[in-house]
Amino acid sequence: MQAEPVLVLGLIEACRAVITANTDHLCALDCAIGDGDHGSNMQRGCEAVSAEGAALSKLPLPDAVEKIGMTLVMNVGGAAGPLYGTLLMEIGRELRARDGTDDFPTVLKKAIDAVARRGRSHAGDKTLLDVLYPVQDALAQSSTLIDVARRAELSANLTAAMKAMRGRASYLGDRSIGHVDPGASSCALLTTAICHYFGE
Ligand code: ADP
Ligand code: MG
Ligand code: MG
Repeated sequence: MQAEPVLVLGLIEACRAVITANTDHLCALDCAIGDGDHGSNMQRGCEAVSAEGAALSKLPLPDAVEKIGMTLVMNVGGAAGPLYGTLLMEIGRELRARDGTDDFPTVLKKAIDAVARRGRSHAGDKTLLDVLYPVQDALAQSSTLIDVARRAELSANLTAAMKAMRGRASYLGDRSIGHVDPGASSCALLTTAICHYFGE
């Protein structure tokens, strides 16, 4: 495992790079079933986190992750900010509470459940939860990084068949069917980037 400062900065850059490369794609997905801003919302959040990179890299890992979550809540407009923000804040808090004991799948499960409570949403509602839960499941089964990334991408694609039950896309009802959920797509892109980073 790399030293924490390098790890934090590397992950921040990997996430920023994949969102930058896919900003237009994520906006286009959101144009189809929302208000077209998901890519730019995520981009704004990534830039804000990158700007704090030096300060974040000096913090213990749990504190850094929690702080990234707070930065996302404050800087990402729309639904995605509080949801991704909750995910990271809860991961940070859980990591701190466990004081280094290594059970990341359990940490992630608790954090995803907090996102679900925040969004009053469940698996199958056509949201980023439909990638997060399968990714958690793959990690809990000790899948390889390649399989975790594959599961994320497959799960994002499966949201196309779902009817949106939460967020702006739910206003479309049945007309949301046939489109990939933008939040599920950003979540798969980020998962893949993180897996790739750890795999190198
Ligand atoms: P907004 O819809 O406010 O413009 P974004 O476009 O940035 O925000 O994010 C939209 C994404 O947020 C959706 O694609 C979906 O994955 C996720 N989302 C929206 N509402 C909820 C919710 N209540 N619970 C879980 N995820 C949600
Ligand atoms: Mg939007
Ligand atoms: Mg919006």
